[in-house]
Amino acid sequence: MKIAVLKEQAPGERRVAATPETVKKFIALGAEMAVESGAGEAASIADTQYAEMGAKVGGRAETLQGADIILGVQGPDPASLGGAAPGAWLAAGLNPFGERARVDAYAAAGIEALAMEFMPRITRAQSMDILSSQSNLAGYKAVLDAASEYGRAFPMMMTAAGTISAARVFVMGVGVAGLQAIATARRLGAQVSATDVRSATKEQIQSLGAKPIFVENVAGIEGEGSGGYAGEMSPEYQAAQAELVSGHIAKQDIVITTALIPGRPAPRLISAAQVASMKPGSVIVDLAVEAGGNVEGAVLGEVVEIGGVKIIGHKNVAGRLAADASALFSRNLYNFLSAFWDKESGKPVLDEEIGDAIRLTRGGVVVNQRLLG
Ligand code: NAD
Repeated sequence: MKIAVLKEQAPGERRVAATPETVKKFIALGAEMAVESGAGEAASIADTQYAEMGAKVGGRAETLQGADIILGVQGPDPASLGGAAPGAWLAAGLNPFGERARVDAYAAAGIEALAMEFMPRITRAQSMDILSSQSNLAGYKAVLDAASEYGRAFPMMMTAAGTISAARVFVMGVGVAGLQAIATARRLGAQVSATDVRSATKEQIQSLGAKPIFVENVAGIEGEGSGGYAGEMSPEYQAAQAELVSGHIAKQDIVITTALIPGRPAPRLISAAQVASMKPGSVIVDLAVEAGGNVEGAVLGEVVEIGGVKIIGHKNVAGRLAADASALFSRNLYNFLSAFWDKESGKPVLDEEIGDAIRLTRGGVVVNQRLLG
């Protein structure tokens, strides 16, 4: 069983799908590990560290030659996977809805593509969930990004020269990223409030010492969709939410938006008029910018300034903490493959619940219900 770890090719991608730690663990399971030279460089991992753990470090062709499993952070170009064993697995974040043509190409290339972001949200799969591990870091980094663009301090400071008041931070969307953003902003001393469409988050917001801002008594209030994710809200709810948020946003210094709906464009939470209502010097971070954005005016990969309000639209925010993001992503992949490792055959064998959820292609065709349905 040969496992290949590729150097990421997407521009700006600094993460890597295996660390020396997980390489060592895979070898202990009986796998042969091959790492493409330079794979860990941008995450501060040298080739020699992989080699010391027993991996063979070499060029891409050599790494892929005969590989049974290919690990990646993002989906590699299907045309660049020559030499892998027929039916080889590719386990990575494959962005199946956004990169549908690529999924077809994996099928045509005889690759069995496993989309790690389709991991079901069940207790036993928590340790395999790349969305959670990466969102958590993104939520943290979003607050630091906001703090560094903000021309003021976060905590209240009483100094001999006078008092500085605490920054007001509003977090919209309280999933994994939002919860970490709340916790981080609180640690920095900000006055934090937050909102979500799932009413279960109210208690979580309070438990972190932040103030919940919620629409009450409107039809379609319960925003829980399937699998613990949000669903799309009724027009009545959306109107009530927009009104509530309008009043609140105008008083905020920092707004961090994280709202996502799986398989759909991100919901628009902040209009241009709401941006204009904020004080000059305020900062908005749109963590949903890659899914179309929660904020009108946000630009993917840029920090824009509109009427004195900065809107941060960084790409791949977790990747901006490449070392930790790689460590967690790599463990997700190891936890996944090792949980299904069959000692007798020396390879992983997936069960139906997880296999059917994440498998995109098999036997030359697309097989995933979410893509076919
Ligand atoms: P997500 O990234 O899909 O979305 C971020 C947040 O945006 C969610 O809380 C969502 O409710 C919210 N949102 C969507 N539309 C909105 C709107 N119009 N206004 C305001 N907020 C809106 O979510 P996530 O971070 O993946 O977490 C979703 C839930 O799944 C959480 O409860 C989380 O704890 C849970 N979860 C479970 C597992 C597991 O059991 N394996 C793993 C990860 C997350």
